[in-house]
Amino acid sequence: MKTLIWFRQDLRLADNLAVCEAFAFARQQLTTKPDSIAQVEALYIVSPKQWQSHDVAPIQIDFIERHVNILAQGLASLGVKLNVVTLPWFDDVMDWMPGFIVDNQFEQIFASQEPEFNERKRDQQLLDIGLPITFVAQDCIINAGEVNNLSGQMYKVFTPFSKKWREIAASKMIAPLSVPAPIGAALPIPATIEFDATKRSSKLWRAGEGEAKRILDQFCLNKIQEYQLERDFPALDNTSKLSPYLAIGVISAKQCLAAALNYYPEGLVDDTSPAKTWINELAWREFYRHLLVAFPRLSKGKSFNEKGDYVVWRNEKTEFAAWCEGRTGFPIVDAAMRQLNQTGWMHNRLRMVVASFLTKHLLIDWRWGERYFRQQLIDGDLAANNGGWQWSAGTGCDAQPYFRVFNPMNQSSKFDPDASFIKKYVPELKNLPLKAIHQPTYIERFDDSRQDTMGLFTEKLVENSSVYPSPIVEHSSARKRAIEVLSSLKR
Ligand SMILES: Cc1cc2nc3c(=O)[nH]c(=O)nc-3n(C[C@H](O)[C@H](O)[C@H](O)COP(=O)(O)OP(=O)(O)OC[C@H]3O[C@@H](n4cnc5c(N)ncnc54)[C@H](O)[C@@H]3O)c2cc1C
Repeated sequence: MKTLIWFRQDLRLADNLAVCEAFAFARQQLTTKPDSIAQVEALYIVSPKQWQSHDVAPIQIDFIERHVNILAQGLASLGVKLNVVTLPWFDDVMDWMPGFIVDNQFEQIFASQEPEFNERKRDQQLLDIGLPITFVAQDCIINAGEVNNLSGQMYKVFTPFSKKWREIAASKMIAPLSVPAPIGAALPIPATIEFDATKRSSKLWRAGEGEAKRILDQFCLNKIQEYQLERDFPALDNTSKLSPYLAIGVISAKQCLAAALNYYPEGLVDDTSPAKTWINELAWREFYRHLLVAFPRLSKGKSFNEKGDYVVWRNEKTEFAAWCEGRTGFPIVDAAMRQLNQTGWMHNRLRMVVASFLTKHLLIDWRWGERYFRQQLIDGDLAANNGGWQWSAGTGCDAQPYFRVFNPMNQSSKFDPDASFIKKYVPELKNLPLKAIHQPTYIERFDDSRQDTMGLFTEKLVENSSVYPSPIVEHSSARKRAIEVLSSLKR
């Protein structure tokens, strides 16, 4: 009889409870059936159609593929064969899995729980038909459903959630699990696995558990203490950039917390600890994951504040295209969108700026932005992405109030004061004076019959730069319009 580990968004060997439980189960079998051989195999399912319907970015699929290859090698060295199968949709697993289990005589399967609705539904269906699967909870440091208010409910405000979350975390041993000892002789190096899915190269990002661990250690050693002061400045590159690895589980949140506490043991209990702000980001990650489990409608494109589903968005397609392509005429917005398009990643401050700009200045439905992000991001993650978008649009749980509209000009001068980030991604502006970069001039656009105004418009464009557009909206009037429309979100 054999044991199976089903890998999903936990593409790692270290601190992987499903791996440890599977190995322990297999070894336990040996004590009850001494004549048998402990055998563990692993499984990864490629789901191209489901991924497409979830808008998983081709760059993230490539990153996953690279990690599945690395995992196959790591597993082989432990004596475990990785089976990779393609089943286009999650639902296909229902038909395929029972036969796979019988044919291979798997006695028990171990897999990690996932917080998203479709994933949970699939797993429940597999349990309902009686498959011997143990789903272990390990995608959070504190499991969803365990950080509750006095009435036993999920918090709807982040600050008390994070306080309780820190208390619970401080009462636990934050000790990541080691990779278990091999279960059998090492297997030959596996053949390269290639997914039959749309991919885009993720080579800008180094792959591997070892690499993620190295980034984490370097960050805790060199950057975490300045994080609170420097995290909002995109040009400083002072955040961990661990999100691509966390999103697909190459590293666990517990490993992140343990590393921070290794350098700053007081990180969970002392508000003045240099690690406190970064640890708080791990709490944000968990807040949004817990919300996804507590409120399944969040996985289905619904606003947390139900009034959000009745907002009359403008949804102007040409403005959306300008936003996606980084040609809104607001240099900070455009630089951010170009960073996303070129690298598959965007700095957190800029995610807030561009999301506010799309939903408030342009009054475009947050779901359009959420979807575009997901299609581009290497760290695409339903919980964090949905949480971030709904926070920005004002429709979310503990969201930015509808009347608070980021001023892109102020955000630009405050967080990219020497415009070095902007100049990197919008090089056509590099010779302009700083003031012109931070305060682009809006020129009212009229239709073609107003040749004189269009003439002025063209002239200004030439003055600013030969190719860079003038802002597509005027800040003050866009702000006023947003507040009027979004006041319908008032509770
Ligand atoms: C509109 C919008 C969309 C977003 N979409 C995603 C997404 O799809 N995937 C994603 O991982 N993050 C998303 N975020 C959150 C955040 O921007 C990224 O996690 C962060 O920029 C990743 O960079 P880092 O790894 O250097 O983070 P660090 O600052 O080093 O933080 C460490 C880790 O904490 C977590 N984290 C940090 N900030 C947040 C946050 N605000 N919400 C949830 N988790 C957080 C991430 O896992 C991150 O890797 C989004 C934020 C906004 C405003």
